[in-house]
Amino acid sequence: MGLEEKIPDSIILTTLEKVANWSRKRSMWPLGFGLACCAIEMISAYGPHFDMARFGMEVMRPSPRQADLMIVAGRVSLKMAPVVKTLYEQMPNPKWVIAMGSCASCGGVFNNYAVLQGVDRIIPVDVYVPGCPPRPEQLIDGILKLYEKVEKTSLKNHPEEWGRRV
Ligand code: SF4
Repeated sequence: MGLEEKIPDSIILTTLEKVANWSRKRSMWPLGFGLACCAIEMISAYGPHFDMARFGMEVMRPSPRQADLMIVAGRVSLKMAPVVKTLYEQMPNPKWVIAMGSCASCGGVFNNYAVLQGVDRIIPVDVYVPGCPPRPEQLIDGILKLYEKVEKTSLKNHPEEWGRRV
């Protein structure tokens, strides 16, 4: 990035980072898709009771090109894995991933030939949310943990956040 290379560590860069990171965490757009039973809890989290609008992310995006957050909700079958990876690659940088539930995190109860033993085998994961399934409150906790990570993102020291590849 031209700006980060030209400006040394300074109060200007620090302020720019803060504004950029604050804007990102307050306007995160999740990709709207679910893979299995965990998706029901994710959909519930987006209902009026849990009110995701509080976190600036009430609208799920139908296109990966408009999304910067992928919530992998459910087990990833080996047949679905290339599709998940393609969707991730179509999302613009910077982008983040939450593995929701034990199946997405490590295969869960499906330790067999048909299910990927964790989505982090094909794409980088930022936050793991445990549970089978995790309740909406747990997903929200994971999102808040992700926001803490986004807040600490440095434009200068973490260029991979801007253009990381799998
Ligand atoms: S973690 Fe449990 S609820 Fe979630 S996809 Fe796996 S089996 Fe279903």
